[in-house]
Amino acid sequence: MKKLNDLTPDALDGKTVFLRTEFNVALNDEFQVVDDSRIRASLPTIEWLTRSGARVVVCSHIGRPRGKYDRKKSLKHLVEPLSDLLKTPVSFAKNCIGPPRAKAQRALSRSGVLLLENVGFHMGEMENDPKFAASLASKIDIYVNDAFGNSHRSHASMASVPACVPQKVAGLSLVKELLAVNGFLEGTKHPAVAIVGGAKVAGEDGKIHVIRNIMPAMDSICIVGKIAYYFLKANGLSVGKTIDPDTRQIDAPESDVAQSVKDCAAVLEDPETKDTNILLPMDSIVASPRRVKVKPINHDIEVIPPKASALDVGQRTTNAIGKLLKKARSIVWNGPAGYFEDPRFREGTLAIARAIKNSNAQVLVGGGDTLAALKDVGFSPARVHVCTGGGAMLVMLMGRELPAVTALED
Ligand code: ADP
Ligand code: MG
Repeated sequence: MKKLNDLTPDALDGKTVFLRTEFNVALNDEFQVVDDSRIRASLPTIEWLTRSGARVVVCSHIGRPRGKYDRKKSLKHLVEPLSDLLKTPVSFAKNCIGPPRAKAQRALSRSGVLLLENVGFHMGEMENDPKFAASLASKIDIYVNDAFGNSHRSHASMASVPACVPQKVAGLSLVKELLAVNGFLEGTKHPAVAIVGGAKVAGEDGKIHVIRNIMPAMDSICIVGKIAYYFLKANGLSVGKTIDPDTRQIDAPESDVAQSVKDCAAVLEDPETKDTNILLPMDSIVASPRRVKVKPINHDIEVIPPKASALDVGQRTTNAIGKLLKKARSIVWNGPAGYFEDPRFREGTLAIARAIKNSNAQVLVGGGDTLAALKDVGFSPARVHVCTGGGAMLVMLMGRELPAVTALED
């Protein structure tokens, strides 16, 4: 795979570059960018290109418009913030393909930057339509992927445009992210501790694949969040309603709970994992059906009542995790320890964030929820590599390829 910094400035001078960024930011009711860190992540790449005299055509999606125009997801709201950050005016094409795009691209001077309207406004993007990809690639000399957070998706602008252009390279932010995750996987320092939480255990993006893949490289793995209760159930513990398909609507209901529990049992019994210390919750904060009563339960002496749900891990659990994290030299964390949207069930996640903050390990974290918890306790960014995309990081942790990165290979 070629990288942007493998190209000499001469190779870029005057060339028209299609730059795929991950400008998938949240906009408030006044269409202002809530957090511009994803825009900032690609500034070095844009500046590298403009310094070399390239004409830069920037393409991104916001949200999941599924082929329909949506004013709330228009990239035009990013023209001003991007111009301000770059300290240079950025032009805008109100369609990412067709005449408006062609005209704006023709008007682009050397070192000029053109922002395209949301690529997701075309169904061809999600459907990875080759015709749509060819339109996106129209009159482009070089393709640059700087969108790590979207690189696990086989969308047209990610996986098919590279094949339609004479040259394709990885942008500076993409390379940084790939090195961080690969570096973590290959250069793990011991003791290495993984904390995996969240809600989805099985299915395409289920955490069980992450757990299975990273287990051999880890000294300890702490399984928390809703997913932990599939493992506890596999160990014979009563978990009440915690993993019932319809307990909460936030995540897609698990289609086959019994099968998921069996899969978890297989992971726990796998001879390859016998050297890894698996830590499951020892106590939980449980709530009765109407969530009026919330109380801690100690698994050694009490069972989770049949109608209650475990919505956070308890203090014995976070203390045990804290002990492991204190000695850890590398830590990877994805997924909250409980139903943290409700403040009554946040403490487990915050306790883990505090323990990470106080550790001396190198840390890899991914996922918006996980990052928010670390921000809440005021972590030090220097020691922490925060992936711009939790989904893409998880796919790498599952040991799978990122299709958009594979598309950059010759
Ligand atoms: P996933 O990939 O499974 O969505 P996330 O890390 O995004 O993983 O999961 C976050 C969600 O998991 C949050 O909405 C959080 O409330 C939920 N969650 C974590 N633990 C529990 C629990 N014990 N009960 C219910 N929901 C939980
Ligand atoms: Mg999620």
